[in-house]
Amino acid sequence: MKLRHFFPLLAGISLGASVSAASIENQMPYLTLSDGSRIPQLGCGVWELNGQEAYKSVTESIKLGYRLIDTAQYYRNELETYQAVLDSGIPREEFYITTKLNPSNGSSEKNIRDSLDRSLKNLGGKIDLVLIHWPFSNDEMAWKIMEEYVQAGKFRSIGLSNYSPDALRRILKIAKVKPVLNQVELHPYNSKYPTVAEYEKEGVKVEAWSPLGAGRQGLLRDPVIADIAKAHGKSSAQVILRWDLQRGIITIPRSKNPAHIKENISIMDFQLSDEEMKQIDALNRDDALWDI
Ligand code: NAD
Repeated sequence: MKLRHFFPLLAGISLGASVSAASIENQMPYLTLSDGSRIPQLGCGVWELNGQEAYKSVTESIKLGYRLIDTAQYYRNELETYQAVLDSGIPREEFYITTKLNPSNGSSEKNIRDSLDRSLKNLGGKIDLVLIHWPFSNDEMAWKIMEEYVQAGKFRSIGLSNYSPDALRRILKIAKVKPVLNQVELHPYNSKYPTVAEYEKEGVKVEAWSPLGAGRQGLLRDPVIADIAKAHGKSSAQVILRWDLQRGIITIPRSKNPAHIKENISIMDFQLSDEEMKQIDALNRDDALWDI
């Protein structure tokens, strides 16, 4: 088995067939980031969900065993996302919450600090991971400020989103606290093997946004993926998310539909073969959904 296809399961975790929330929690693979913290490898995204929708989607996701939640200042649903976490009654320490600094809040040191403080207030006073949403002119200043928040114990980790390898190296040059991950567009039509290797060489993990192609591009109807799905008795979405896990990629699909939320986490009970991984790899077209 090729190293990149090794599934990073924790020792002692079994691959059972059950999909109950408790067993999914037990089976959820975690990755260790460069600062020693651990992140669930599968979570839920809340982009394009309004407050009420985000609350419902996160509530349903938590019931089914999701613990990683990906919000952003830009999505305007931090408050409702956190309310769902609070209302779950599950200890906060079991969750891994990510938000992102919106570059349009980055025009001055004051604006950056104010927006980070607002996120802290929205998300209960401590955040697991704060990313810079995309590169912008003041991002080195923002990084230095975010480092202070790590040192003050307000953020556990900090990272980047939508950074090319060169942009990542620019931040690494000035960083005292290293970015733990880079969240980038990644799905079978834009699989990014060479750039993922560059990030990983720098000790930066990769998290996939729009792992299902955002429901666009016909990815979920791709015949190669559909055939693999049929062979495993799974859906195309499940095959794609499983491909992420076996690549060592963190993945954060979004859904409002309880059946899809359940489907997306029910992927711990099957394994893609090397041959199937290669067939999916071969679908790459470097096809970016958005030019960020
Ligand atoms: P996605 O790839 O997760 O796809 C979402 C679409 O797929 C929705 O239309 C949903 O209804 C559908 N879907 C979900 N599960 C399905 C299933 N099992 N079967 C059939 N259809 C299914 O799209 P996304 O929301 O763009 O990306 C996921 C998350 O990544 C976002 O919610 C957000 O948190 C994050 N994101 C980050 C950035 C960034 O710039 N950092 C950009 C885009 C998204």
